[in-house]
Amino acid sequence: MSDTILVINAGSSSIKFQLFAIKPGDQLERRLRGQIDGIGTRPRLRATDTKGECVVNQSWPINEVGELHQALDKLVVFLREYVGRLPVAIGHRVVHGGPEFVDPTPINSWVIDQLQRFIPLAPLHQPNNLAPIRIVLERQPHLLQVACFDTAFHRHHSEIVDRYAIPDHFYREGVRRYGFHGLSYEYIASRLRDVAPAIANSRIVVAHLGSGASMCALHAGKSIESSMGFTALDGLPMGTRPGQIDAGVVLYLLKEQAMSVTDIEHFLYHDCGLKGLSGVSNDVRDLLSSSDPRAKMALDYFAYRIALFGGMLATALGGLDAFVFTAGIGENAPPVRQAVADRMSCFGIELSKTANAKNDLCISSEGSPVKCYVVPTDEELMIARHTLQVLQKHEMPEERRA
Ligand code: ADP
Repeated sequence: MSDTILVINAGSSSIKFQLFAIKPGDQLERRLRGQIDGIGTRPRLRATDTKGECVVNQSWPINEVGELHQALDKLVVFLREYVGRLPVAIGHRVVHGGPEFVDPTPINSWVIDQLQRFIPLAPLHQPNNLAPIRIVLERQPHLLQVACFDTAFHRHHSEIVDRYAIPDHFYREGVRRYGFHGLSYEYIASRLRDVAPAIANSRIVVAHLGSGASMCALHAGKSIESSMGFTALDGLPMGTRPGQIDAGVVLYLLKEQAMSVTDIEHFLYHDCGLKGLSGVSNDVRDLLSSSDPRAKMALDYFAYRIALFGGMLATALGGLDAFVFTAGIGENAPPVRQAVADRMSCFGIELSKTANAKNDLCISSEGSPVKCYVVPTDEELMIARHTLQVLQKHEMPEERRA
């Protein structure tokens, strides 16, 4: 069996993972995708192979897998049994690299300490991302672990893009417009070079529309602007987050509604967005099939805000050559794409109804001045590629291979 790279995306009660084999010519071949969820409640490990066939579906009593380190132990046992040996490296998705971390970074205890400083910038994600890294470092100190950041792809933004209009010392403390979903945009930029080379270096707006949603302006394959800012609350409305909101609303909740900071945080992350607006669901599939007028209004609102940000990002780019949809909604919801295109027809976007209905790669009509694409994203492959590059820079003595 070839050497493998494990990619981990750790959340509050789940660890999502994918395993890639390193093939000759440094090709990465996906072998497994799976997750351990219900850690602390109903722990269960599930994984499928490349054909989508289940290779494991196992539950444990809570006293056996009540904590993250126990879940990681179960994953190690499974990987040893299934693959025969441990991966040669682990790539981790880490939401925040702060102002300094712009490249995928090999982990050591100093790096963990640095990344811990950014917990206040991403309190819901960063601690969960760091927890398995710390456990693996303690148990397998010689196993290469690489942190890949959601913020990194946007770290070359110009200063006026990066700032809020607040006193300078906040900027120096790290209150900046970071932008997120960077691994997704980086993958899309690389994929466009293969599937649409004619436009890959032009002025492109990419809409990553998943349960989290943001947009990015790409110029010559680089990010120059993002709809998201300091946290993943900004920009587009999302499944349960409001997107851009006047800071005065937060002051109102604090002062007039006497909500606590914790209540407001929960409200902004979990009760707003499509869920709050529709009162029906945070899932676009439910909204599309609902006859409730509030579901229709929420979808209209979503498309309207995507088009507004599209206009803003086209201004940052000085014009628009192509528009790309990606992630769960962007890849699978023709009515949402059509509604966005209709609202952006003034920019020269016109869809082919048949291509859009089929989720084709190119969905714009033949004469559309702005080309429109559906490009499935693959953040895990991006992490595996980064991890492989770091691995190749490292001397890898045989004894490190577990
Ligand atoms: P995450 O941010 O969790 O990775 P995804 O990119 O998987 O999210 O997107 C999840 C969302 O995509 C779902 O909440 C749902 O709204 C939407 N979605 C998935 N499949 C479809 C579909 N066939 N039609 C419309 N929306 C879909």
